[in-house]
Amino acid sequence: MLNYRITKYFKIATFKLQVKERFINEIYLVKSMVEKYETRCLNCRKRFEVEKGAEVAECNHCGSKWRISWVTPDQPKVQGPA
Ligand SMILES: [Zn+2]
Repeated sequence: MLNYRITKYFKIATFKLQVKERFINEIYLVKSMVEKYETRCLNCRKRFEVEKGAEVAECNHCGSKWRISWVTPDQPKVQGPA
């Protein structure tokens, strides 16, 4: 009887943990879709938004297209004209 109760308790605890993990994973997924990064345009010298992981980005100030490299997963850098 005690064994049964312990087993049941652990099943519930495990389930709660799985729900929590899934919830956290979804937050990260949404975060990575929403997150935008900025780098400086070599043409107009203004900062423009680059979507995470993008290889090409267009400056929203002057319309120049740039090839993008990622110094770190969070830091885009203009490589040259696209
Ligand atoms: Zn620009």
